[in-house]
Formats: sequence, C-alpha cells, structure tokens
Amino acid sequence: MIDLKTPQEAHNWRFKQGSAKIGFVPTMGALHEGHAELLRRLRPRCEKLVLSIFVNPTQFGPNEDFSRYPTHQPQVLEADLQLARELKVDAVYLPTPGVMYPPEASTWVEETRVSQPLCGPLRPGHFRGVTTVVSKLLNAVQPHIAYFGLKDAQQFFVLERMARDLDLSVSIEGVATVREPDGLAMSSRNRYLSEMDREKAPQIFRALTEVEQAVLRGEQPASVCDRARHALSASGFEVQYLECLELPNLLPSQNPSDAPLLIAAAAKLGSTRLIDNVILRPEKLAPLNIRVHL
Ligand code: AMP
Repeated sequence: MIDLKTPQEAHNWRFKQGSAKIGFVPTMGALHEGHAELLRRLRPRCEKLVLSIFVNPTQFGPNEDFSRYPTHQPQVLEADLQLARELKVDAVYLPTPGVMYPPEASTWVEETRVSQPLCGPLRPGHFRGVTTVVSKLLNAVQPHIAYFGLKDAQQFFVLERMARDLDLSVSIEGVATVREPDGLAMSSRNRYLSEMDREKAPQIFRALTEVEQAVLRGEQPASVCDRARHALSASGFEVQYLECLELPNLLPSQNPSDAPLLIAAAAKLGSTRLIDNVILRPEKLAPLNIRVHL
C-alpha cells in the first residue's frame, strides 16, 4: 500500500496509473464497518482503490469535537492502516492540515441549496468545509468513482450536486448505511456514548422507521414527524431536527405520496450528537442520474 502525503505526491502517483480505473473513499479515519463496506463494495469496480484519512478542521465548529476526534490517537491511525491493507487498498492519502490549508489559502467551494436545511443552520460553515475539502481531495486523486455513505445523506446530496454543478468528471455514488445489530447506524462518534446512552441510541432509527411506515400509509409527514420528535424528547434525547424532505433538493414535499423522500434526524444524547435517516422510494433517484447502492 502506497502512502501519499501531499497533492503533488497524489498527482505523481495518479499519472503513473494511466488509464486504470480509480475508485476513491474519503474518510476522517477511526474506521469501522461502515467505512469498510464502502471500500469492499468499491474494490471490485475499480483497478486502483484509494482511501483518504483526513480529519478536516474546516468542517468542525468551534465547540465541536475536532481536537478529541479519535483519529488523532496514533494507535487508531495504525489500526486504520492495517484495515486498509486487509481490504486491499492500493494507496492511502494522508495529508496534514498544513498541506491542505496553507496560511495564504483564500478559496472556498460552497453549495447553496441542498446544504441549507437540516444540519445547515445547526453547523454553520460545516458543508462549506466539506465541499471545499472534498473538491481538494477529488482534485488530488482524480478518481473515476467516489463512494460516500448514505448515513450522511445530506452530505451525499450536497456533494452530488456540487460535482454536477462544477462538471467534475467523477461519479459520486451513495452506499446504504451499515448498522449495528440493534439498528444504531455505525459512526466513529458512537464510542463517545456512555453505556446507558448506547442502549438508548437505537431509538432514533426506530423512530425514523415508524415515520417511514406512517408516511407510506398516507399520513401527513409534518404531523408524523412532530409525534416522533416528541417521543424521542420524552425518552431523553435532545432532538435537533426530525424532518421529512423531498429529494434531491431537500425542500418540503409537495407530493409525499409519490416523491423520493429523506426522513432525517439529529439528536444529542449527553454531549454526543447522532444523526440518522431513511430514504423512501430510492428507486426514484436513478432517473435523476443519482446513483445509490442499497
Ligand atoms: P467519516 O469518516 O465519518 O467522514 O465518513 C467517511 C465516509 O464513510 C462518509 O461517506 C460517510 O457517510 C461514510 N460512513 C460513515 N458511517 C457509515 C455507515 N454507518 N454506513 C455507511 N457509510 C458510512
């Protein structure tokens, strides 16, 4: 497995690969089965598989968990590299913040519609940090295909729009959320949960599934979401949002009985912020040329 540390090293490696099909999975490390699934599913679709591990400072708010993010521990990064070797990753791109953001850098990439609802107002600057870093990573690696998890559904739809708007020559594709046996979406942040909160955490997915079923029965999304929000609050979650929006623009649905929908939630348990979602009628994304693997 080749180690790449700068955009220049990534470019040199990339040009040596000639016309080989390049697949790319960007991550912030502290890898778990969700990340492994993206790599496993992309491996047979490409000739060279690239993983990046970069805890991107520009997507964290001032009171978020950047400095305690698990990847900063050397043993976590070592385990990540071991897993990457086992999954037959060809090259791992590990830039430093200094390489990614030299002091004179003054350019941002910003998507201005899909990034507005849900996490947008709660994490000012977050999606601008994500679109900027992913643009830079895609420019360094120049892959044919990049896989992103639908666990971060809003992020996926923002990046898919960005690639389209900027005419990037990469296929941005989404992969189904990998869950623990009790339904909790796998996340590098689950390790912050106390034992009691870990037991409670799967209620988010259960609430989302109940909303899905009610919407499929023809109930009004707004009132179903209200009910689910109250039920989670009563169980001790600090619910930041639980909403049903139409895909791919993440606008309130004009047509909840027919359109592809995202039912998404963010809630805090103690100081840990969890997000999860379910997608209704994902088959309606294919005609829009939006590729998801479920
Ligand atoms: P992160 O390291 O959290 O930035 O995640 C890197 C990539 O892995 C993103 O595209 C995430 O959406 C994806 N990912 C994280 N958790 C999961 C999961 N449980 N299932 C599927 N993909 C995931």
